Amino acid sequence: MSKKDDENPLEEIQKQLRDLLKNKNLQVAFAPFMQSMSSSGDDPQGEKPKDPPKKEQAPSPPSDDPLEAIRSFDRKPKEVRDYLDRFVIKQEQAKRVLSVAVCDHYNHVRRCIQDDRAQAAEYLKPNVLLLGPTGVGKTYLMRNVAKLIGVPFVKADATKFSETGYVGNDVDDLVRDLVKQANGNVELAQYGIIYVDEIDKIAAEGSRGGRDVSGRGVQINLLKLMEETEVNLHSAQDMMGQMKAFMEMQKGGKPKKPTISTKNILFIVSGAFDQLAESIRKRLDLNRIGFGSSEEQEMSGSGVNFLNKAETQDFIKYGFEPEFVGRLPVRVACDELTESDLADILLSSEGNALDQYRRDFEGYGIKFDMGNPAIHEVAKLASKEKTGARGLVTILERIFRDFKFELPSTSIRKFSVDAQTVRQPSEALVALLEDNQDLLDENLLEDVDRFVDSFKREHGLELRFRKAAKVAVVKESLEQNRSVLALCEKKFKDFEHGLKIISQRTGRNYFVIEKKVIEDPDKELSRWVVESFSNSENKE
Ligand code: ADP
Repeated sequence: MSKKDDENPLEEIQKQLRDLLKNKNLQVAFAPFMQSMSSSGDDPQGEKPKDPPKKEQAPSPPSDDPLEAIRSFDRKPKEVRDYLDRFVIKQEQAKRVLSVAVCDHYNHVRRCIQDDRAQAAEYLKPNVLLLGPTGVGKTYLMRNVAKLIGVPFVKADATKFSETGYVGNDVDDLVRDLVKQANGNVELAQYGIIYVDEIDKIAAEGSRGGRDVSGRGVQINLLKLMEETEVNLHSAQDMMGQMKAFMEMQKGGKPKKPTISTKNILFIVSGAFDQLAESIRKRLDLNRIGFGSSEEQEMSGSGVNFLNKAETQDFIKYGFEPEFVGRLPVRVACDELTESDLADILLSSEGNALDQYRRDFEGYGIKFDMGNPAIHEVAKLASKEKTGARGLVTILERIFRDFKFELPSTSIRKFSVDAQTVRQPSEALVALLEDNQDLLDENLLEDVDRFVDSFKREHGLELRFRKAAKVAVVKESLEQNRSVLALCEKKFKDFEHGLKIISQRTGRNYFVIEKKVIEDPDKELSRWVVESFSNSENKE
């Protein structure tokens, strides 16, 4: 825990409140405040409480046991690996190592839930140090593990924490976030998974430069969490929670300090560690006695493989506290994803980025097909991005962005994406629109009808467009690159008022829209209004 918790901000706030209340001249309307305190813990302003410990407020009925998923978790490591295979491509070594670690850990957790003696037994938590470049599936692996086991999962970057928590976040927030992820259920949160990324950025070795001095302090704070500590459910900034504790004390009870133990929370820390790979390569080079082993020759050129050779000393030299590294007994490196791995992700990983684009288009009733050559072209471009699988999203977004904007306003309900579309999406879209010109015009004419319908619904007056008028609107909308609807709304914006006057004088409730109305709507409307007056005067 951070320094400020050692100083106990709760006591300080309580002391200040006590002093405040001793002041006899002070008049505080406590009733509504007390009411809001006792009412389900909601913020009186209607805002969401920062740390809602729902477990305290509304205990869940025994039937929906939050620990049920953990109790019934009985997968073997190979089965966990097979489950991960559905989502994560490659990373075999990481999958094997993680499967064993999570099975061991949750078997232990299950024993603890069933038997208090297991809780007391000596246990070395298999916290994991995951190494490897960005976008290769490190987080994705752990998210899927957490989903499979049914425990809450929280991820944060180590760089956002500061030693004191006064500037930047406090590492204890991670645990409180876990409680939020568990919908306030502290019992479940204590078995959750916390993932801290970019851990290499808080290494403390000065010689590599560019790091701030609080890195060591953050390591120490994280170390305390990874070992075992009680984290206050209410942060020092959570005034509502602090007040609640104070009010309970005022009511005569002992101030209850709701806490959560980190003993069984599983920690995963990860980082790219690119410079570490280089220093391991050097160490291996130095150890060579005159000739290169075949293994080393095999490894040459691949930084990631060197990470699998990392030893405790390498991490200490890199700038980690020995105790910190010691609390991370499970270490494994993820590999860089090749072009063919990226293609495999699109072809076989469940819920990959392409599936989401399919769903997005289906929202407008549009389907697309994408053959293997196109998928391989996407993978080729994505691998040039050097951001792992994240590159896939960058490329897919570039391909589909304009299609998503244009196609929902057309009658095109199906299109194909080939390798050429991937290379030059704008040209492919223009060609698609040109090829479907007839369909487009038809669709745009229907847009005029949609405007007529909405005008009638809103104003009770019917606009009867002649074909020539419709064609003129469509032509103008294409010339101006505006939607038919927007163009009609602009042209007919004064018609509601004018037509109502005419309708009142003449009893007419439909109006024929000729081409000349489109060419100069204001002129035509004025003429109609004047005519309606002269006609009625003539009658009179
Ligand atoms: P990091 O290694 O930086 O933690 P992530 O796991 O967050 O990267 O990957 C970002 C996204 O890319 C994931 O949400 C997932 O959709 C996709 N992805 C990354 N690696 C893989 C992989 N090996 N197999 C399938 N999808 C992956």
